Amino acid sequence: MKSLIIGEVNNNELSSGTLEIISKAKELSLDFSVITIGNSETKNIGCDDFTNTYFKSNSNKLNLSSCANEIKTLIEENNIELVLSNSSYIGRDLIAFLSVDFKTSPVSNVTNFEISNNELTAINSINGGESEYKVKINSDIKLLLIRPKSFEQTEITLNDSFETKEIQENENSIDVFDIHIEEKSGPQLEDSKIVISAGRGMVESSNLKLVEELANKLNAAIGGTRAIVDAGWMPYSNQVGQTGKTVKPDVYIACGISGATQHQVGMKDSKYIIAINKDEEAPIFQISDLGIVGDTLSVIPKLNENL
Ligand SMILES: Cc1cc2nc3c(=O)[nH]c(=O)nc-3n(C[C@H](O)[C@H](O)[C@H](O)COP(=O)(O)OP(=O)(O)OC[C@H]3O[C@@H](n4cnc5c(N)ncnc54)[C@H](O)[C@@H]3O)c2cc1C
Repeated sequence: MKSLIIGEVNNNELSSGTLEIISKAKELSLDFSVITIGNSETKNIGCDDFTNTYFKSNSNKLNLSSCANEIKTLIEENNIELVLSNSSYIGRDLIAFLSVDFKTSPVSNVTNFEISNNELTAINSINGGESEYKVKINSDIKLLLIRPKSFEQTEITLNDSFETKEIQENENSIDVFDIHIEEKSGPQLEDSKIVISAGRGMVESSNLKLVEELANKLNAAIGGTRAIVDAGWMPYSNQVGQTGKTVKPDVYIACGISGATQHQVGMKDSKYIIAINKDEEAPIFQISDLGIVGDTLSVIPKLNENL
C-alpha cells in the first residue's frame, strides 16, 4: 500500500512521533515516503531508505493551507492510498484539510493498524483508553492520526539527503507573532527511561522537592497529575494523561497518585509501574508491578537516603 508520512521537525530533528510512525512503516514493509514540516534549517532528516521532502516555511507565517495543497498534489501524483500523521497540532490541522479535499473521514487516536490483503484495519482508543475498537477503512485515501508512543521508535540512520520546498505565504497564511519556546533542562518527559510523577498525595507543593531529589538521583524526568497542575504546583507541560502527555518509560514511579483513568491513559504502557499510596484500594495499584502502601512523605525520604 503506497503511503505518505506527514512528519515534523522539532529543534532541527525529526520529532519522536515521526520516528515512531517511520518505524511502524518499516516494520510493515510499506512503500512509503515522508514529508516533513518545519521552519528551520536541518541536516539530519533524510534517510537512504525513504524519500523525504521538507516543507519549510519561508517566513514567520504558518501556511498550512499551502502545505495541504502541496500534500494533496503529492498524494494524487504518486497514487498514495494511506496517509499517516502524528496526532500533533500541525498533523491534526493538515489531516483536516486533506479530509475535506478527498471527502473522506480521518480516523483519529489510532494506537495500531494492520494491513492484510490490501485492507486496512485501524485500532482506535476511546473513553480515555478504557475501550478499543477496530475499524476497517474502505475509502480510496485512508487518513490516520496516530497517538504518540503507540509504536516503539527503532534506530534509524538519518542523513542530509532530502529535498527542500519553500512554502510561500498567501492571503490565508496565519501571522505567527510570538513563539514561546519553553526552557527545558534535565531528562525530558517523553524520552526519559525513568519518570517520577507526583499527585495530590504529595500533600503540598513544597514537598515536591522530595520528588526532585529522587529524580536527580535516578536521572529521571518529572511528571504530575492534572490535579497538581491545576493547583499550580507544576507547569502544564509536565502533566501526564489524557489531556497531557503520553509517556512510556521503562520505569514509572507514581507518588501519591490515585490512578484515575484519565491519568492512566498517559502512562499505563510503561514497562514497570511502581506506586506509593497510603490507600491500599487506590486504582493505581491495579496496574502497578510494585506497590508500596505508605505515606509518600516518609517513603520518599527513605528512598532518597538509601540511593
Ligand atoms: C476530561 C478530563 C481530562 C483529564 N485529564 C487528566 C490528565 O491528563 N491527567 C491527569 O492526571 N488527570 C486528568 N484528569 C483528572 C483525573 O480525573 C483526576 O482527577 C486526577 O488524575 C487526580 O489526580 P491525583 O491522583 O493527583 O489526585 P487524587 O485523585 O486526589 O489522588 C490523590 C491520591 O493520593 C493519595 N494520598 C493522599 N495523601 C497521601 C500521602 N501522604 N501519602 C501517600 N498517598 C497519599 C490518596 O490516597 C489518593 O489516592 C482529567 C479529568 C477529566 C474530567
